[in-house]
Amino acid sequence: MKAHDGMYIGGEWRAAAGTDLIAVVDPADEQVIAHVPAGTAEDVDAAVSAAREALPAWAATPPAERAAKIAALRDVLVARKDEIAETVTAELGAPLPFSQKVHAGVPILVAGSYAELAASYAFEEKVGNSTVYAEPVGVVGAITPWNYPLHQIVAKVAPALAAGCTVVLKPAEDTPLTAQLFAEAVHEAAIPAGVFNLVTGLGPVAGQALAEHGGVDLVSFTGSTAVGKQIGATAGAAVKRVALELGGKSANVILPSADLAKAVGVGIANVMGNSGQTCSAWTRMLVHTSRYDEAVALAAEAAATYGDRIGPLVNAKQHARVRGYIEKGVAEGARLVAGGPEAPREQGYFVSPTVFADVTPEMTIAQEEIFGPVVSIIRYEDEDDALRIANGTVYGLAGAVWAGDDAEAVAFARRMDTGQVDINGGRFNPLAPFGGYKQSGVGRELGSHGLAEYLQTKSLQF
Ligand code: NAD
Repeated sequence: MKAHDGMYIGGEWRAAAGTDLIAVVDPADEQVIAHVPAGTAEDVDAAVSAAREALPAWAATPPAERAAKIAALRDVLVARKDEIAETVTAELGAPLPFSQKVHAGVPILVAGSYAELAASYAFEEKVGNSTVYAEPVGVVGAITPWNYPLHQIVAKVAPALAAGCTVVLKPAEDTPLTAQLFAEAVHEAAIPAGVFNLVTGLGPVAGQALAEHGGVDLVSFTGSTAVGKQIGATAGAAVKRVALELGGKSANVILPSADLAKAVGVGIANVMGNSGQTCSAWTRMLVHTSRYDEAVALAAEAAATYGDRIGPLVNAKQHARVRGYIEKGVAEGARLVAGGPEAPREQGYFVSPTVFADVTPEMTIAQEEIFGPVVSIIRYEDEDDALRIANGTVYGLAGAVWAGDDAEAVAFARRMDTGQVDINGGRFNPLAPFGGYKQSGVGRELGSHGLAEYLQTKSLQF
C-alpha cells in the first residue's frame, strides 16, 4: 500500500531523523503491506517547533475562517472516503462495509460538526462587569489508538483546530497509514503549515517524547488505562493540561420489562461491530434471573450469525491476549455458549464471536477489558443487585439500559456511574459529550464539551 517515508511537519513531508521503520501488517492475512518511519524525540521536537511557530497566527485567525478550513477538511474526507475505508480495512482488518459506514463515515460527521461549532461557539461572553474570552490552550500533543484510527484523530484534531490550537499527532503504530492519509487531507484542505503535524512512531519512544515535551501545553490521549496513568502523572508533574480517554467494561442492563430479543440482538451487535475492539462496547450483559435462560439462548444464536462477518483482531498480541481471556473464563467456571478460544481460521488474527453464560461479577472476564468479540452474560436478582453489578468495576465509560418505557430506563441510567448510556437502543450522537467516569478517563470529547477541552478562559473586569 501507499505510504510516506517521512513525517508531515510544517506543511511538508520531511525525512525522518532516524532510519528505523515500523512494518504495517494486514491482520486478515498477516502480510506486511507497508513501512512507515519510526519517529524519535528529534522528530517530535521538530514537529512541536513547527506547531509553536504556527500557533500565534492560527489562534488569531477569526473563528469563521477556522471553521471554513475545517469544512474544507471535511470535504476532502468526503471526497476520499473510499480510499480511507480501504486503508482502514487493510491495516485494522475491519470488514469493508463497516469501514465505509463507521471508520470513514463517523469522522466526516464529527469534522462537519466542528466546522459548524467553530463558527457558532461563543468565544466571548459577558459575566456581570467582566468580559470572559475563551482562548486556545496552545500546542496540543495528540496520542491515539488503533481501534477507530480516523475517528480518534478527528475527535481530537477537529476541536483543537476549532479552538485555535495547533497539533502534533502521534498515531498508533498499528494504523499509521490512515494517519498519513489524514495528513494528506489536511494539506489538500490548505490548512496553514504547522497547524497540524504528524510523527509516526512507537509509543514508548515518540509517544513518550511528545507527552513529556516542554513545548506541549495539553496532552490529549486515548488508549489503555495503564499508559493513561503514566501520561497523567507526567502531565501532572509539569502542571500541564491533560485529557484521558481510557478503557471500559460497559454494562448492557436489560430490565425485566424490556423487549428481550431486541435488547440481546442489539447488545451482541454492539460488541461484534469492530470485533469487540470498542472501548465503549457493552461487554457485560445483565439479565434478570426470570429471563436469563431465554437471553442466553438468544445471545448464542445472535453471536453465531457473526461467524463469517466478523473481522480479525488488529495484531498477533491482541489475538493471543483475547484468546487467553477466553481460556481464563473457562478456567474460572463460566459456561461457553458460543465461540471459544480456538482460532477459527488458519490465517489472520481471527477470534470466534464468543458468549459466556453463568458469569459472576467478580470473574476476570467480568472485570477486565478484553477488547475482543466476547460477551459475558451475568444474572441479577433485582434492580439494586443489577446496579451494584453495573457499577462494580473500576471503569465507567458507557452502557445501555433497556426497559418497557424510556422513563423506567432513565431512572436506572441516572444511578449508573458512567459517562454515556444508550436508552432502549438510542442512536450515536456526534454532538453528545463522550468520556468516562472513574478510571475510564478525564475530560470529554465531541460536541461543544469536546471543544471546551481545548480552551482556557481569560476574564477582563470593567
Ligand atoms: P495503548 O495505550 O497501548 O496505545 C495508545 C496510544 O498510546 C498509541 O498511539 C501508543 O503508541 C501510545 N503509547 C503507548 N505507550 C506510550 C507511552 N509510554 N507514552 C506515550 N504514548 C504511548 O492502547 P491501544 O492498545 O493502542 O488501544 C487500546 C486501548 O485504548 C483500550 O484499552 C481501549 O479501551 C482504549 N480506548 C479508549 C477509548 C476511549 O475513548 N475511552 C477509545 C479507544 C480506545
